[in-house]
Amino acid sequence: MTNSLAIVRTVADLRARVAEWRRQGQKVALVPTMGALHEGHLSLVRTAQKLADRVVVSIFVNPRQFGANEDFGRYPRQEAEDAEKLANVAADLLFAPDVTEMYPEGFATNVSVGGVTEGLCGAARPGHFDGVATVVTKLLLQCLPDVAVFGEKDYQQLLTIKRVARDLDIPVAILGAPTMREADGLAMSSRNAYLSPEERRIAARLPAILRELVAAAERGDELSALCARGIAELKAAGFASVDYLEFRDAETLAPVSRIERPARILVAARLGNTRLIDNMPVGVPA
Ligand code: AMP
Repeated sequence: MTNSLAIVRTVADLRARVAEWRRQGQKVALVPTMGALHEGHLSLVRTAQKLADRVVVSIFVNPRQFGANEDFGRYPRQEAEDAEKLANVAADLLFAPDVTEMYPEGFATNVSVGGVTEGLCGAARPGHFDGVATVVTKLLLQCLPDVAVFGEKDYQQLLTIKRVARDLDIPVAILGAPTMREADGLAMSSRNAYLSPEERRIAARLPAILRELVAAAERGDELSALCARGIAELKAAGFASVDYLEFRDAETLAPVSRIERPARILVAARLGNTRLIDNMPVGVPA
């Protein structure tokens, strides 16, 4: 059975709904997304439901986080289908503003984060994290939830948002939730829809190679040799290019040459016209 889901499109309507819940003493969670919802997004909603009485999901394909030659125009938009999925998991409210509601005429503010945004996707996609930090700051201040839930799938984004909330004293707890994967290990992503059947088959090599590299790193193998091996294996599997494949500190994202504290392996690689990202935790060798 499909429940109906309330949808609001303006900040004023969002605030009115949240204010009503607040009057009733309820806790509120926010799950920001760009839509084309899959099980990974829905897992964030379920996590949010454990933490709060009401869950708001936002869907906004944010033009400011796409580069000039990126996929903003063809990014999948399927609001009716998304709303049905959200109703089925009993989310409470969908906030789906249009671009002029988020960026009215004259909009001139940019939230720019240093440190964790350097390198990785920050280097490969100039301006991307400014766009992310700006829109998430707005969403947090528009909704003012108790908690906001983000996926570890976008690990550098998660750390960037934690940094913004801390640095700007935004009174919202930022929580990371684990990556949901397809049966063959590929991280769920709205962009997987771009893959041809042949590319989809090759894409499963990405998490498999990462898992092998994690196991070798945890045995104490030398990290730069592992990265070189991983890049060669991805290209041999059919990936056109690898934007980065690196071991980084799990908390600061500083580059690491030895694993002495919890680390993360992070990758971005291109398959045809599609850019896939993934990451996994790496424990300290025994
Ligand atoms: P997006 O719609 O891709 O901007 O993602 C919205 C939120 O869902 C972000 O916090 C992502 O990190 C999270 N997310 C995307 N894919 C997954 C996944 N496979 N597992 C868990 N969370 C995810």
